[in-house]
Amino acid sequence: PVVLGIESSCDETGVGLVRDGRLLGHAVASSMEEHARFGGVVPEIAARAHVHAFTPVVHRALTEAGLRMSDIGAVAVTTGPGLSGALQVGLAGAKGLAYALGVPLYGVHHLAGHVAADTLAHGPLPDPCVVLIVSGGHTSLLLVRDLARDPITHLGDTLDDAAGECFDKVARVFGLPYPGGPAIDRAAREGDARAVTFPRPLTGPRDDPYAFSFSGLKTAAARWTERHRGQALPVANGAAALQEAIADVLTRKAVAACTAHGVGTLVVVGGVAANSRVRALAEERCAAAGLTLRVPPLKLCTDNGAMIAAIGDLLVRAGAAPAPLDVSIDPSAPLEYAALHPVARP
Ligand code: ATP
Ligand code: MG
Ligand code: FE
Repeated sequence: PVVLGIESSCDETGVGLVRDGRLLGHAVASSMEEHARFGGVVPEIAARAHVHAFTPVVHRALTEAGLRMSDIGAVAVTTGPGLSGALQVGLAGAKGLAYALGVPLYGVHHLAGHVAADTLAHGPLPDPCVVLIVSGGHTSLLLVRDLARDPITHLGDTLDDAAGECFDKVARVFGLPYPGGPAIDRAAREGDARAVTFPRPLTGPRDDPYAFSFSGLKTAAARWTERHRGQALPVANGAAALQEAIADVLTRKAVAACTAHGVGTLVVVGGVAANSRVRALAEERCAAAGLTLRVPPLKLCTDNGAMIAAIGDLLVRAGAAPAPLDVSIDPSAPLEYAALHPVARP
């Protein structure tokens, strides 16, 4: 069946259509500009923007795919984690569609969607693979087997901030526009990463090899900025050095996890996987270690509906149980399974 996926956990309203692992079409609307003057996502504004965007984005995705409402065979929706008001809007819309069309509804985990995004570009994931998920709210190293069926093993997580949060907060300190990740990426192009020394948190011999910490890096960048008070801040160098520190720690630990677990494929997903230095360094280090690297195309890294349709499609084909129509959101859902109602192993 054609699976319609709906994403509304933060400031993107995304709708995608997937059948048998193939992306048929997708559309995204973002309320990013409405949040820019506040320097971060305002939950109430995001929720309202989803209400306005929902129907037009569904129609845009259908038009792009050349499909009609009646072609939809299942609906998948992000039930968490995310902003509760934002999630509520997507779930209400998804329930309405599933009920009106008489098709099953699947509640899925947003981060499993980020992982599934890669399958749309590169086909089924090898079992097992190591996944580095780096986004605005999460940074984890995972051991993934069958995404639709098996529990997900966390090798390590961030102890404090996510990598994306670090990019966003430091960008603000540097006086760069919101959202910070892309702004740092752009500024870094003109900079010299070696001009500034930032720490490499949790990379010592006694540290947990797969845990991350980014709040100290944020503090180091703030101190460096303060030291330039009254002078022009060499923002490009600061941006390049911050990006290098983050990319270095992420890729070093991800490659080490593959090697230690005897896994041949690293998959890097989430908004920070769009970062040019993270992509380049991951490529370099995977090649050196003899690993296959998979990173989704830029558009599928940040939040979108195609990734939710992709995980929905995997669940449908695995024979997962649909969610009841009274299913609720879970704003802080831990990543244990891809679906709210995982498939029982035979
Ligand atoms: P989560 O997925 O954890 O719930 P989210 O959905 O808000 O969080 P994503 O959409 O996956 O996050 O990613 C957004 C994050 O990615 C932001 O922190 C943003 O700054 C970062 N990001 C996007 N592009 C880049 C880039 N080129 N370089 C660095 N960071 C980037
Ligand atoms: Mg966003
Ligand atoms: Fe996300």
